[in-house]
Amino acid sequence: MAGWFAKQHVDAVTTHLTEPYVNDYLRANIWHVVGRDADLLVDTGMGIRPLSPEIATTTGKPLIVVATHIHLDHVGSMHEFPVRYGPVESAAEFERMGDAATYADFFRDMEDPVSQLPEPGWSAATYAIKPAPLTRALSEGDVVDLGDRRFTVLHLPGHSPDSIALFDQTDGTLFSGDAIYDDTLIDDLPDSDRTAYCQTMERLLHLPIRIGHGGHGPSFSRERMREIAANYLKVTADL
Ligand SMILES: [Zn+2]
Repeated sequence: MAGWFAKQHVDAVTTHLTEPYVNDYLRANIWHVVGRDADLLVDTGMGIRPLSPEIATTTGKPLIVVATHIHLDHVGSMHEFPVRYGPVESAAEFERMGDAATYADFFRDMEDPVSQLPEPGWSAATYAIKPAPLTRALSEGDVVDLGDRRFTVLHLPGHSPDSIALFDQTDGTLFSGDAIYDDTLIDDLPDSDRTAYCQTMERLLHLPIRIGHGGHGPSFSRERMREIAANYLKVTADL
């Protein structure tokens, strides 16, 4: 079908994409940032329809694709792109994209995986994520450099052990993946860790962001991020 992705300009250099017909539990955000010397794509959706035709590129200018973690709704189209960065913690898994790492089986088994078929006869039962070996493994403190902007890698485990975020300390933009976002946070997956997630939230309470673009839900201010983090800490302490 035409128009599998919804696309919206966020600011002069940032575009938000998502997949409106994917079950909302797995409908993730994709962020495209135009830089001076390189462009950046944060996460790649489910991989149900090709993503690369949706992303404008400039000849001779690299498009750096960063996966915030290896869950299915963030790495589905990673294989379509040649420059692939992702967390060092799950780097080896990107060569296989097995269900144990991506939870792709969760989508195959869903009763209502999509609200509209991507093409006639499509079935979630055949859903698979293609391997996408990383060309660079990212660790805490690494820098993803677009020439005019530098994003520092933050390792923020909890939702998953490999969750990373990208933080532009100069202008305060945070691409946070599933470490934090303005919607129901998921901390009960087999590879989730509530203790680690609490440490991540403590860290986020003090992170001086201007705006956060998460893996799900709407973008958020620093104040809203502090609310989400404080609420998570309170609810988790009460468990
Ligand atoms: Zn996730």
